[in-house]
Amino acid sequence: MTRARVRADLAMQPGYHSPQVDVAVRLNTNESPLPPPAEFTEELVAEIAEIQWHRYPDRGASALRAAIADHHGVDASRVLAANGSNEVLQTILLAYGGAGRAALTFEPTYAMHGQIARTTGTAVIEGDRRDDFGIDVDLLRRLVAEHQPAVVFLCSPNNPTGTVDPPDTVLAALDATDGYGGLVVVDEAYGQFAPRSAIELVHDDRSLVVTRTYSKTWAMAAARLGYLIGPSWLVSELEKVVLPYHLDTMTQTAGRVALRFEQAMQRRVAQLGEERGRLVAGLTRLELDVFPSDANFVLVRPRELSGDHVWNALLDASVLVRNCSSWPRLDNCLRITVGAPEENDRLLAALQEIL
Ligand SMILES: *Cc1c(COP(=O)(O)O)cnc(C)c1O
Repeated sequence: MTRARVRADLAMQPGYHSPQVDVAVRLNTNESPLPPPAEFTEELVAEIAEIQWHRYPDRGASALRAAIADHHGVDASRVLAANGSNEVLQTILLAYGGAGRAALTFEPTYAMHGQIARTTGTAVIEGDRRDDFGIDVDLLRRLVAEHQPAVVFLCSPNNPTGTVDPPDTVLAALDATDGYGGLVVVDEAYGQFAPRSAIELVHDDRSLVVTRTYSKTWAMAAARLGYLIGPSWLVSELEKVVLPYHLDTMTQTAGRVALRFEQAMQRRVAQLGEERGRLVAGLTRLELDVFPSDANFVLVRPRELSGDHVWNALLDASVLVRNCSSWPRLDNCLRITVGAPEENDRLLAALQEIL
């Protein structure tokens, strides 16, 4: 038998790998260690009981979009929601990437930007971040002028480094791409942890979108819900490529109900920010280089032992972190999600033992 031939450009791709292991302390995927409040579940269950299961969902997710728009103080025509911000990113690339087009990333950054680009047949141009993981604006201008990428990805705070871009970076990217009609995408999956957001720059006269997710600060990784804020003309183009009824009624409902508990979300963000301070103080006392972070995770590099060794030893202690040690430009690095206090204590105790 001749196996069906996959696209040649996909045959070379590794796919997404992040071990899902049953451990006592899970600090590997930047989830919230705390669930949403009990009242959220109660209100959600009551609304789910009312769902008309024989009917398709609201195709335009109008109530959810209105609630998100209200949350950000923008018009609902500027919101697109999808199954996780990954589907949002894929939608952007289906409409604005594709054959003969390129996306620009600044590495190391969120691996899905490059991966989804390649999946959609978009070429990927990788710029290097500086040693402090910030973006060199001159390099950005040079790469944009040279390649005229259809999409420029920024990520602030950046995963996996925790770096926040200054406003100049977004403005420089907008300025550089404006002449030929490029699109700037700012991934703000950790936006609520950062001192500033690019959402206030979104305008019908700028080719800028900002993506957000419910997976992290909203403590709803189980739901698969993300969205973008962008110009309404751009949202209309994106609506042409999403599948009909892609966002199911339960997810739309969960997203709407969650927004009623914004204060609880802000409290979680504040608690995690404090807990990050405590975690960083503990990590700094160990034989590790600790990179500054404005997110709910911290990138570290063991000074003496290899990243692989430390990752495995942590796993033996039933603590799972993200092993970035073989990723380009991140030799021996590990990314640690800020967990609940007792989880962070277990991590610190295990690290102390190992190092
Ligand atoms: C976690 C994360 C996402 C979230 O993706 P979802 O599909 O919404 O779960 C997006 N971007 C970055 C940078 C992330 O770290």
